[in-house]
Amino acid sequence: MKPITLLGSTGSIGTQTLDIVAQYPDRFRVVGLTAGSNVPLLAAQVRQFRPEAVAIADGSKLDELRAALTDLSPPPLLFAGADGVATVAAYGEAAAVVTGIVGCAGLLPTIAAIEAGKDIVLANKETLIAAGCVVNPLLEKHGVKLLPADSEHSAIFQCLQGVPVHGLQRIILTASGGAFRDWALEDMDKITVADALKHPNWSMGRKITVDSATMMNKGLEIIEAHFLFGLAFDFIEVVIHPQSIVHSLIELQDTSVLAQLGLPDMRLPLLYAMAYPERVPTDWPRLDLVKCASLTFREPDRRKYPCLDLAYAAGRAGGTMPATLNAANEQAVELFLQEKIPFRQIPAAIAQVCETHTPIPQPSLADILNCDREARRRVQEFAQKLPQTVLA
Ligand code: NAD
Ligand code: MG
Repeated sequence: MKPITLLGSTGSIGTQTLDIVAQYPDRFRVVGLTAGSNVPLLAAQVRQFRPEAVAIADGSKLDELRAALTDLSPPPLLFAGADGVATVAAYGEAAAVVTGIVGCAGLLPTIAAIEAGKDIVLANKETLIAAGCVVNPLLEKHGVKLLPADSEHSAIFQCLQGVPVHGLQRIILTASGGAFRDWALEDMDKITVADALKHPNWSMGRKITVDSATMMNKGLEIIEAHFLFGLAFDFIEVVIHPQSIVHSLIELQDTSVLAQLGLPDMRLPLLYAMAYPERVPTDWPRLDLVKCASLTFREPDRRKYPCLDLAYAAGRAGGTMPATLNAANEQAVELFLQEKIPFRQIPAAIAQVCETHTPIPQPSLADILNCDREARRRVQEFAQKLPQTVLA
């Protein structure tokens, strides 16, 4: 039985991970759970999965959580705040930590887990994008595996099994195209928050759903692929595949192309990463190619999706630039969700912050955290300076 800890247990990734644990109680055991602020759901999860250690990031909710669990015997150890989340990430006998926290808030707990020798099942891509240059050497130092749970990177990882080192030539990431893939460029000034939250194929948290609509999600995934698989950015490409059945492809040095296919269900990449290298039998719906009928592919329109080029440029610039891009994006998406900036100002804000950032090469963790804070501050400043004509 594999002991696991789950960060971000109340979110989309978190609840799907616990669905897997509930379905395979003889394979997985929960050692630790952490969540942001949703006490009722976290408390229900604690009752069902009986972890040894639990943390709530919002420290003001600790008493409420404690009160909700008083009758449990033995009670779990309870922690609060960002430090509490990192404590649980490193806690006990967990062999792997599933990172379902959204945003750069996942960085310090992921580092704590790596330093405690735990393998990482990586959903929280922002951590690798902001700090790949710090995280990758730590993985080597502590001898831990970074197992991708993002569906595209899981597809690439699955295709790579058995491929000799240096056999990989090119990565082709597939993208659904998000909520606006069939919208005309001219209509994109009228986008509302509700429009952006309607993803055609996947049900996910709010931030990643907006990232899919801007295609910054794919931009972030280009950088994620670079840090996971070591290819230069010239060899990582993006293609729109509206059906989300082909989860990504790799081209090998002899021009052979391998793809991984499946229904759009995050449980599959999560299960593969959690059980790696085993293949676990499931009773989940099977892919029926005849029912799919057609699988189509087209080039992304760079004018509609400026975030793609922003991400390529940040990835190529390296150093602290990806951390700056990522933090600017997190802040801009947050302001869009609060209806403080229009949709098309998300890439505008990121572009302005990145254009004026001079990246620090080979940054330390402290450099990355400083640039993250600075980028967020500058996006807020950008939003405050937007003219009323843009905001109307
Ligand atoms: P979500 O918003 O549904 O859940 C986020 C979780 O993180 C919640 O449990 C929340 O309580 C917790 N959290 C939020 N802020 C926190 C903080 N400051 N400190 C500690 N915990 C905090 O998000 P999601 O859709 O599950 O996405 C999680 C991560 O997985 C993201 O990085 C996303 O890019 C990635 N991912 C998600 C999917 C998906 O299908 N949802 C697919 C691929 C990758
Ligand atoms: Mg993905």
